[in-house]
Amino acid sequence: MTSDPDDCGPSWLDEIPERLAALDAAHLTRRRRAVRPAAGAAMWVDGREMLAFCSNDYLGLSQHPAVRAAAIDGAQRYGVGSGASPMVSGHSEANAALERELADFVGLERALYFYAGYATNASIVPALVGPGDALFSDALNHACLIDGARLSKAEIHRFEHADLAQLERQLQASPARRKLVISDAVFSMDGDVADIPALLALCERHDALLLLDDAHGFGVRGPQGRGSLAAVARTGARASRRVLYMATLGKAAGVSGAFVAGSHVLVEWLLQKTRSYVFATAAPALLAESVRAALRAIRDEPVHLARLHANIAAFRAGIARPIAGTGWTLVPSLTAVQALVIGANDEALRVMHALADAGLWVPAIRPPTVPEGTARLRIALSAAHTPEDVATLLEALATAARTSA
Ligand SMILES: *Cc1c(COP(=O)(O)O)cnc(C)c1O
Repeated sequence: MTSDPDDCGPSWLDEIPERLAALDAAHLTRRRRAVRPAAGAAMWVDGREMLAFCSNDYLGLSQHPAVRAAAIDGAQRYGVGSGASPMVSGHSEANAALERELADFVGLERALYFYAGYATNASIVPALVGPGDALFSDALNHACLIDGARLSKAEIHRFEHADLAQLERQLQASPARRKLVISDAVFSMDGDVADIPALLALCERHDALLLLDDAHGFGVRGPQGRGSLAAVARTGARASRRVLYMATLGKAAGVSGAFVAGSHVLVEWLLQKTRSYVFATAAPALLAESVRAALRAIRDEPVHLARLHANIAAFRAGIARPIAGTGWTLVPSLTAVQALVIGANDEALRVMHALADAGLWVPAIRPPTVPEGTARLRIALSAAHTPEDVATLLEALATAARTSA
């Protein structure tokens, strides 16, 4: 595009094509693919059928007949859009019922239902702490927690991944009156889990609040998939007033949106002060009805969770032999996220392409998303995978490992 004669002269907008070209030159351009579900865990990807190991639909509930029916029924009864913020007329009876059911499901006093997880974290953190307060954040936390931390203008202390000794030193040294510790409960790239009882003990000792993001644990961990807090309930973590539990509803729940749950008083504060809640159109009732149906499926149909865990066990047992002697390593994880660390970027890409040629969609994750020299495949398993799907993946990985340099 040439510049307008009335323009003020050279503009930073003229640099954008060059900046895009620089991204491309550094192999950092991201491209989307247009997809459509096929049978089971398969997908049509740009017109080609592939077996996907990249979806966070860990229980396969996005395709569940009762969840689909609830969406249709919700649309019939409520219409499609919610029409307003929850503070005005957007808080449907369906959304209200869902909040009660979510709180009950995770065993906390009260829950608040949001239209998206990103908006939840980016906005609840600044509602809790501000200038003069202190934040303590695990180095591998999700981007939306990091953005929430920056928006808050509180002082940010980043601790090395899972380094609770460093966290303790930081808490000890901080003179701030309000301290907030933020952590993924299940880390999204590696599938490893935070030590919740130990985090909570530190928070108790240092008068801090603990915000846990359980996007990858809700529906997957704990009895009946009640999440990472329920998984450690015997330690009393759930009863603590120092825990704020956040989870998303677009992963294992198979729908969309998120919620935050905790004590009555904390949730009331967030209801009053969270800008992405107060100033955004409420999640549509048809989605709330879908999540309600998904919750019933998670709670009452143990087959989904059982299938997922059988797939995880089969994958972990089956991968040991193919990768022996390759230098590849599987990160310890009992969650749906299985990270196979390959090392060099080009090698990880080569394996990804070999799998793609075999009809398998497994994404490679490279620096800067993960540390230099630890390029990996992020394998997402699901209840939608059959035992044969997992066997197909293992076989393709074995073939790729044999041809590895
Ligand atoms: C996906 C994800 C989110 C964002 O949730 P959305 O509902 O997709 O916006 C937040 N935290 C973690 C750890 C996630 O993986």
